[in-house]
Amino acid sequence: MKRYDLFINGEYVKPSTGTWFESQNPFTGEAWAEIPRCDERDVELAVQAAHQALTVGPWAEMSASQRGLLIHRLGDLIAQNAAQLAQTEVRDNGKLYTEMLGQLNYIPQWFYYYGGMADKIQGATLPMDKKGYFTYTRHEPIGVVAAITPWNSPLLLTAWKIAPALAAGCTIVVKPSEFTSASTLEFAALFEQAGFPAGVFNVVTGFGKEVGGSLVEHPLVNKVSFTGSDATGKLINQQAAGNLKHASMELGGKSANIIFEDADIEQAVFGAISGIFAATGQTCIAGSRLLVQENVYDTVVEKLLEIAKTAKMGNPMDEQTQVGPVTTPAQYQKILDYIDIANNEGAKLLLGGKPATGQECGSGWFVEPTIFGEVHNEMRIAQEEVFGPVLSIIRFKDEADALSIANGVRFGLASAVWTTDIGKAIRMSEKLQAGTVWVNTYRAVSYLAPFGGYKDSGLGRENGQDAVFEFLQTKSVWINS
Ligand code: NAD
Repeated sequence: MKRYDLFINGEYVKPSTGTWFESQNPFTGEAWAEIPRCDERDVELAVQAAHQALTVGPWAEMSASQRGLLIHRLGDLIAQNAAQLAQTEVRDNGKLYTEMLGQLNYIPQWFYYYGGMADKIQGATLPMDKKGYFTYTRHEPIGVVAAITPWNSPLLLTAWKIAPALAAGCTIVVKPSEFTSASTLEFAALFEQAGFPAGVFNVVTGFGKEVGGSLVEHPLVNKVSFTGSDATGKLINQQAAGNLKHASMELGGKSANIIFEDADIEQAVFGAISGIFAATGQTCIAGSRLLVQENVYDTVVEKLLEIAKTAKMGNPMDEQTQVGPVTTPAQYQKILDYIDIANNEGAKLLLGGKPATGQECGSGWFVEPTIFGEVHNEMRIAQEEVFGPVLSIIRFKDEADALSIANGVRFGLASAVWTTDIGKAIRMSEKLQAGTVWVNTYRAVSYLAPFGGYKDSGLGRENGQDAVFEFLQTKSVWINS
């Protein structure tokens, strides 16, 4: 079994507790790695190292262009190590290797984009209303950033936070999920190879409240950038507010994927399948509510079932596999519980609905791709995030009905509209309460496009030009001339 160490102040160190916990492979159900169990003493060391690097020494004194060059070099190193990092992620979270490799090959773009931005962060000279003043603004790093990440796409979601944070000149302590810490610990080595000064990037591992909690409480942490469930996000946001820390929250979703009768039905059905079953439904943007206009409801259901029932489950390392295991036993149980809830609520089970136990599933935590029809929006299966391969299909009459159903949940992360009517696409895009609206596509993300949630899906935005301002604060300088 592989044993990992922490990364603090530019080197790998043992945890203060002297103990490690096991990380399991969701396909085999077996422990494959030992992850350091940190406590507040390691958090203290990591935050002190980040604070030191922020305030004195080479990082604090480096020009923005030099910083940009280091960030760019880090992107190159990720590209060179993509296959290795992807394999580690698959061992930890059971997602398909092809998908994880795709993510790892794309992650360098975040570092190239924000690396290029580092020396383009400019203040302004202000056209003052008061005579005799020369007044200008400076954008300064917000400080030490605590980045807390979930288990579903560990390095992609880390990149969304740290690439703009580094461009802004911040220093970072990452706390990855206890279920998938290995790739973040491996990634830390690349900082040293790229030539980053010690203390700019640190990783502490362990359990949520114990490690994440003390990070959020630490007085030298200036900003908390969190991705995870809305329940934890609300808790952390309260804690951060109590200490007047900046906080941004990327939380869960219950996204509506809306098929109008005038859509290209074949294309829309493929979009619905990838919307819910990619990554075994364990994505914040999963299109878990499929809204179908009544005239095409039966056709859509028929085509969906035809494709979904052929989905090949199995070893996530195998290129032929289309649906992999669920990442944790707790998540597996949660999905099965939601299937029971939906059955009891009167939703019509059209496909799946059970654990998958075939030989191809090894001893992993597999749930059959599951589809419920005749779902009503007030049912729990339509309102709550399942985070698994479970699709709820809801009928609608017209545009107004579709909007009221789509917006009738407390979440607002993403949504999609399938139609050949451009006017309808624009009207829907204006009124959907979601941070992302896709038209005739699903699941597209880019470093260029801001990403984040309306309502309970979060606060703040990642990606795009403005994300760097999540890690900056603005100072006005007044000179009496
Ligand atoms: P989670 O909230 O259980 O955990 C997320 C992280 O928070 C982990 O590192 C965990 O250890 C830590 N944590 C837990 N309790 C804490 C506490 N009290 N104080 C500080 N840290 C604490 O979420 P998860 O199960 O790992 O991830 C799944 C959730 O993440 C889903 O709801 C999903 O929709 C969401 N998600 C959102 C996005 C997005 O960009 N909006 C992306 C991916 C996942």
